[in-house]
Order: sequence, then C-alpha cells, then structure tokens
Amino acid sequence: MTTKSYMVKGMHCASCAALITKKLSKLEGIGKAEVNLATEKAKVEFTGETLTDEALNKLLGQYGFSVVSEQAPQAAECTAPVIDRKAAAEKARQEKEEELLAQKAKVQFALPIALMVFVLMMWDIAAQSFASVPNLPIPMRLFNLISMALATYMVFRIGAPFLHGIVMFVRSGAASMDTLIGIGTLTAWLYSTIITLMPEVREQLRVPDYTYFDTTIVVIGFVLLGKYLEALSKMKTGEAIEKLIGLQAKTAIVYDNGNEIEVPVEQVVKGTMLVVKPGGRIPVDGIIFSGTSSIDESMVTGEPVPVDKKPGDPVIGGTINRQGAFTFTATAVGADTMLFRIVQMVEDAQGSKAPIQNIADRIAAVFVPAVLVIAALTFIVWLTVGSAFMEFSTALTFGIMGLVGILVIACPCALGLATPTAIIVGIGKGAENGILIRNAQSLETLATIDTVVFDKTGTITVGTPSVTNIVPLDVTTTADTILQLAASVEKHSEHPLAQAIVSAANDKKIALSAVTGFEAKEGIGVQGIINENMVRVHKPEKNEQIMAAVGPLQQHGKTVVILEADGVALGLIALSDTIKPEAAEAVRELHSKGVKVIMLTGDNRLAANYMAKQAGIDEVIPEVLPHQKADRIRELQQDGRKVAMAGDGINDAPALALADVGIAMATGTDIAIESAGVTILRGDIRKVAQSITLAKATMRVIRQNLFWAFIYNVIGIPIAAGALYPFFGIVLNPVFSGIAMAGSSVSVVTNSLRLKATKLGG
Ligand code: AMP
Repeated sequence: MTTKSYMVKGMHCASCAALITKKLSKLEGIGKAEVNLATEKAKVEFTGETLTDEALNKLLGQYGFSVVSEQAPQAAECTAPVIDRKAAAEKARQEKEEELLAQKAKVQFALPIALMVFVLMMWDIAAQSFASVPNLPIPMRLFNLISMALATYMVFRIGAPFLHGIVMFVRSGAASMDTLIGIGTLTAWLYSTIITLMPEVREQLRVPDYTYFDTTIVVIGFVLLGKYLEALSKMKTGEAIEKLIGLQAKTAIVYDNGNEIEVPVEQVVKGTMLVVKPGGRIPVDGIIFSGTSSIDESMVTGEPVPVDKKPGDPVIGGTINRQGAFTFTATAVGADTMLFRIVQMVEDAQGSKAPIQNIADRIAAVFVPAVLVIAALTFIVWLTVGSAFMEFSTALTFGIMGLVGILVIACPCALGLATPTAIIVGIGKGAENGILIRNAQSLETLATIDTVVFDKTGTITVGTPSVTNIVPLDVTTTADTILQLAASVEKHSEHPLAQAIVSAANDKKIALSAVTGFEAKEGIGVQGIINENMVRVHKPEKNEQIMAAVGPLQQHGKTVVILEADGVALGLIALSDTIKPEAAEAVRELHSKGVKVIMLTGDNRLAANYMAKQAGIDEVIPEVLPHQKADRIRELQQDGRKVAMAGDGINDAPALALADVGIAMATGTDIAIESAGVTILRGDIRKVAQSITLAKATMRVIRQNLFWAFIYNVIGIPIAAGALYPFFGIVLNPVFSGIAMAGSSVSVVTNSLRLKATKLGG
C-alpha cells in the first residue's frame, strides 16, 4: 500500500471536496482518498501500483478539477529538497496571488455596479413602502433595459464559473456550490429577460413587469466579494508554515583549509565543516566544533531566551547566531534536518482530518442535491398551494424569489471550512510556539484531557542526578572503595544514575576495575564480577537495618542505591536530581485548568513524594518498573480518566502510545517521536498546559464555526423559501440571501483566524 499526496486545483466548496473524495475512492486501485478543502490537498492510498497523474486527471477533468502529485521528500545527502520546497511554496503563493488579483479585478468591476443597483433597489422598495419617498427618477422601461444589459454581462461573463457549475451538473450529475448560484442567478435572469422581451408571455401569465435583473447583479457581485474575502483570509491561515519554510538559509559558508567559501546550501553534504558569523543564519543541523555562541532558537523551538552553546553542542538549521563566530560539522542536511521534518510534520497535521469534521463532511456530500430538491419543491408549493390563497401572479413572484433565494443562501462552504481552517491556524500556532501536534485527532483529544501523568526523571527533574552522599555500612569499607566498586560496574550501564556514579569516580580520579559477566536488570539495578566477587548496585530491598540508614536520605528526595559484594551490603550511595525550575509553575497552570497532575517514577515513595511536593504535584505513583508504566496509564483510563502522558519519548514509548495523548519532551533534534501525539521542543513542561489551552481554544472555534454554519443554513433556507410569509407576510428578497451567503463563509474563516491571537501563557 502506497500513499501519495496531491495538490488539487479547481475546488470551491466542501461539496467539491466531497465529490473528488467520492470519485477517487471509487476508482479501481485506490483504497482510500482524503481531500482537504482548506489546504487544497488530497491524500490517496493505492492498493497496488500507483496510478499516474494523467489517469486521475482524466477522471477529475470531467468535473473541472485537476491534481498534481507532490514529490515525496527523500532522505537526501544534500539540501535540495528544502530549497525545492521553498521554491514550490513560493510558486504556489505566486499562483494564488495571481488568482487573487484576477478575482480582485472581477470584484472591482462588479461591486460598484452591484452597489449602485443595490441602492436603486432599496430606493424602489422604499418608494413603494413610504409615500414620502419619491419614485425612481428613471422610466421603468429604460431602467429594465439598462439592468438587462448589465445583468447579461454579469451572468455570462463575470458569473461564468457559476454557469460552468450548471454545465458540470447537467453533464455528470455532480453539483457544487457554483451550481446552486448558477441555477439561481440564471433562473432570475431568464425569467426577467422573458418578461422584458416578450410582453405577450407576461400578459398571458398575468404577472407584473417587475424584473429580477437587479437581484442577479447584486447576488453575483456580493457572492464574488465573499469568495474574494474568503480566499484572502484563507491565505492567512497558512502563514505559519510559510514562516517556517522561510527560515531555511539560502547559502552556507564552507570552511576549507582556512578558506571560507560561500556556497548554495544545496551543496552542503553531511560531514562538511561550516562557519557561522555573528548575526548569520545556521544553514543546516550540526554539532559545534570550535567557538562559542549565543543562539536564538525561538523561531524553531519557541524558546524565547537565546541559548548559549559551546563545542559539542548541537545547532539547528534555520536558527540565528546572535553572538560569536563558530565552526560546526553538518550532521543532517536536506530532508533530514529538524526544520524540514517540522515543516513536513506540521503540513501533514494541518492536512489531517479531525473526527469532529465527519458530520460536516457527511452533510456536505448530500447538501447540494438536497438544496436543489428543496428549491424545486418550494417553487412548486408556491405555485400550487400558494396560488390557492393569492393571485397566481403573486404566487409566481414569490415562487421565483423563493427558488432563487434558497439556491443563493445555501452555503456548503461555511460547513466545509469550519473545521479545517481552525485546525490549520491552531496547529500552525502550536508550531510557532515549539508545540508540534501530530494530527487533528490528537488536537481534538488533547482538548478533553483531565489528567496529565509526568514521568519524573528528565521531565519533572533535570534528569542528570549527581552523587551527594556515600555511606559505608561497615567500618572496614571506605567511601572510595564503595565508589570504586560501584563505578566499575556502572560504567557498563546507560542509566542516568550509573552515569552520575561514574562521573563522581572520575572526579576523584579513581581507577576502575575490569568487570566480567555484566548484567542490567531494568528498574532494579546492575551486577558484574570483579576479582571473582559478585558486585551488585541496586535499589534497596526491604531490610530493616539498611532501611534505617536509607529512610532519612529518601525523605530528602534522594535516590539511594546499595552496593553489595557477594551478598553483603557494603554501603549506600545517595544521588539527587534537581527539579526543573519551571516545574511548579507548569503544575499550577494545569491545576488552574482543572487538570489532575500525577508523577510516575521508578523511584521509591519517600524520595518521589519529596520531589512531587516541591513541584506541587497531587499524586505520585512510585516504584513502577519501566514495563509497568503503560499498565498504570491503562488503570487510570479504566477509572474513566482522559490521560495525557508526558515523557522523554524513548524510554516511555509504550506508555506514551497507550495514553489518550502522548506528549514527548524532545531534547536536541529528535522531534519525530512515533508514539507521541504532541512533541514539545526544548522540553519546557509549561508547554504541556499551553498545548491544552491551544487545543481547547481550537475546538471551541471549531464548535462555534460548525454551530453558526449549521444554524445559518437551517434558518436561512426556510426563510428564503418563505416560511415567514404565513405569519408575518415577509418574503426575503434574494439580494439579502446573497449578502448572507457571502457573509457566512467569510465569518467562519475570520473566526478561525482569531485563534492566532490566543494567549497560551508562560
Ligand atoms: P528507573 O525505573 O530506571 O528509574 O529505576 C528505578 C530504580 O531502580 C532506581 O531508582 C534505582 O534504585 C534502580 N536502578 C535502576 N538502574 C540502576 C542502575 N544502573 N544502578 C543502580 N540502580 C539502578
């Protein structure tokens, strides 16, 4: 099974997206197709061989759509894909801007005419309603003829895309929003033209010489304006990704035998030594070789304070060197760089579908045909039922107004844009703040989280413990002997405690012994043979005598390990990790949102409680073996909790994957953590609360959008049909339908853009 991504052209509304999805899914060789209106992209899963672009376009061309496949990024030896991506993004933007300019020209032409006609219409309505308002100072006949000329031009030239919607409908039975507007305006135009040019038909029908040319002109004018404003704001929703792509440097300075040569960044390969000057942009990812620097990484990681770097520290491509010059070795270029992977991840996430959208999609798929049927029924009801209560000519007038009004007011685009525009803005906003959300589903779940479980080591604490006390348990053993034996065995372990013990021995310049038969027991300790003695370093067992010495240390938050040789406990080593300075604030913020905070650790209860208390954490789950972490998450879920697990993403992968949302605290450049729904760059745990704030704000906007889009159609369509007439004698002029329709999709996109201003705090 292969999945390919395509750019889609020609979509105007949710019905178009639904139509393409339907047609593609039915094509042989395609398992699943997902089309996103807001990103104008399609994801297609092929069951076997992939189909060519031509094959897809042959099918979609019939309906006025086309697709171009996007090149899959390849793990490259050079940076070309990023530059390609930047060029592609610039080209796409240029195309969009040209399209917008063309749209703008149309609006600039149509709108003044529409406004003028609108004023005349209002005047006419006022003159008929109030005796004090004089009649229009233009003879009706002349007015009709001028209106006819203008309306004809509007329908057939400016409104041509809408007519194309009708052609598509007749040819293939597939209807879109354009079809609705097309049928509505064409009907109004046709009726008006007939009664203007053929007075005998009008007399036979006994209808007044009132025409709807003005309606046609104003509807087309306003709908075009609405579409233009919608396209304009839609472009703004994608700004986050453009900003990220824009971070890529175009050139790099290669350091070659003392010479500095500027080259296009595409030419940089892994292992190249590069130079960065003060104020310069770091071209690719790498490790500092010489020099020190203060680097502004805010644009990639969201970390506001510049980070000091020295030889051996990693640097991220796209970030800016504030002070100091340095050389570094490129470790990742092109598609492997952190920046490229973030862009890829954010783009995928923005194009993904939130479960909440399913209902809107289902409605959008049947929306247009349903509206056509309702409009036709309305017309028939006015002619049959209506004419029983009023003159036929009045019933016909109302019937036409109803038909046109319904077709024009019904707006599937508001429904289609409600979810994806908010997702794009929300996920983009996260990325700008160092919060990478894997997909819309994770975002939706994140908004419902009521419990956050933090892994202790490296998440609540800094994660680099150090040795604080060495306590011999018998008089003949010295502290140095304890450290020497323990460090000799621990040298073979990767555990943070092991590294702390080894570095304490190194500090004291203690020579280590050779070890055979090394063995590590996860969550318990290590063992090995030194000079035929079995030396073990492990967590304290419940031995009363030893616990008397261990207890007081643990009460101060220290982790204590026992050194044992041939089954005899020789001494204790106490280690202490420090809690992160921002931990207490992070916990407070979560509490203020009503989220329960739990700390999970392999440590013993006393030490864990001490650390938790410092951070203000409610509950501790201590002494959990690594493989039991997922079980604890499951238990919380069985209690009905919605659990987010925050951990380092490597040791905690199963727990992260099992949690409703896994939050990986990334350090360095490992951002694509499979098991995590959210990755937080630079490991700032305050961002956990911020990500929940963002998710909640995004979901709130989606719900508002969906609500208004639904309500708008549910109320607008009956009013346009004339539902108010029997009670209040009011029939909506289709012109107001046109204005309402233009307003509805613009307001949805504007509401989504509001998310950009959400305060995440911290
Ligand atoms: P962990 O689940 O990795 O946090 O480990 C839980 C506990 O097991 C630690 O608090 C130590 O008491 C013990 N432990 C694990 N690995 C080691 C090791 N390499 N050396 C000493 N003790 C260890």
